[in-house]
Amino acid sequence: MLICRTCFAPYPETQPVWRCKCGGLLDLDFNPSFSLKKLAGRAFNLWRYREALPVKSDKHIVSFSEGFTPLLPVAFGTKKAWIKQDQLFPSGSYKDRGTTVLLSKLKELGIRQILEDSSGNAGCSIAAYSARAGISCDIYVPATASPSKLAQIRAYGARLVQIEGSREDTAAAAWRASAKMYYASHCWNPYFFHGTKTFAYEVCEQLNWKAPDTVVLPVGNGTLVIGAWIGFTELFDLGIIKKRPRIIGIQVSACNPVAQAFAARQLEITTAEKKPTIAEGIATSNPIRGNQILECIRESGGSLISVEEAAIAAAFRQMAREGFFIEMTSAAVIAGLTEYLKTAGTKEKVVSLFTGHGLKTADHPLLK
Ligand SMILES: *Cc1c(COP(=O)(O)O)cnc(C)c1O
Ligand SMILES: [Zn+2]
Repeated sequence: MLICRTCFAPYPETQPVWRCKCGGLLDLDFNPSFSLKKLAGRAFNLWRYREALPVKSDKHIVSFSEGFTPLLPVAFGTKKAWIKQDQLFPSGSYKDRGTTVLLSKLKELGIRQILEDSSGNAGCSIAAYSARAGISCDIYVPATASPSKLAQIRAYGARLVQIEGSREDTAAAAWRASAKMYYASHCWNPYFFHGTKTFAYEVCEQLNWKAPDTVVLPVGNGTLVIGAWIGFTELFDLGIIKKRPRIIGIQVSACNPVAQAFAARQLEITTAEKKPTIAEGIATSNPIRGNQILECIRESGGSLISVEEAAIAAAFRQMAREGFFIEMTSAAVIAGLTEYLKTAGTKEKVVSLFTGHGLKTADHPLLK
């Protein structure tokens, strides 16, 4: 059942809706019948958590056997963190976690044509899985998006619609087009979050079904924060893990509406101004699920950290020197992780991730 976050109206899962009649956001009310016994002999991809993924029939699954990315220890000075290598997903970012579940669901619903808007990676991901599913897709992007991401979207055969102006202008254009075509938005669509939740399942399995103490995640539109919190909560409710980790959300100082609301102890976010940043992928001035992101982080006992441009560039260089080529937005999370680890306990188990591959922004001026 899909339930409106504003007016609590219910919608059956067989109905192709992505928002409520009242305009509210939908959440999926879903209790997985997952148990550890079911895992024996299954392939090491994210569909091994099959009973936890809200797609009815296997024949609708749209997959590249993605997921179960390595969880590697990486040293930061005298401290250490465990880093999921999510830059290794088929389209080059963790967005594929959400997309494999969303596109499978859309195939199940018989949808033939979709549109999506994105600053880059979500568009690449939706375009890749649409190609695999044989679904036609239009991707709306700001004209300023990274040239290699635009090339990637085009190469998959998606129709690329470049919009002059801000990321918000792109969202507005997609919004208008959504009157005529199904809007497969990674921000609106609740199925996307039931894909990103596999981050939590994989981390717990890779730590022998123990939850970490802390997870450090990006906060732009919050697809990982909200997804991971759903995942950890499901595992906790199933009795598979004994506690849920605290979530530390990372924003860039250039655009940090959620961190500002958290610091001011507000329950609702207000639109933030947006200054130029090298971590374009998380600079969201008005995330539509902003209040939900705040709720997840508060409930987890976590907090938010905002990082400066110089720290992002430094984190990028440090990771590259250790053999990890990640994109600038991904480096922002590592800058925040570096900051967090300074105050972390010596026994604290801290998990984070590389969100996107460096080849996505290899044309970046900082690399010239
Ligand atoms: C999408 C993305 C993020 C931010 O995720 P949100 O869901 O917007 O919070 C971070 N890094 C990369 C590489 C991304 O593609
Ligand atoms: Zn409603």
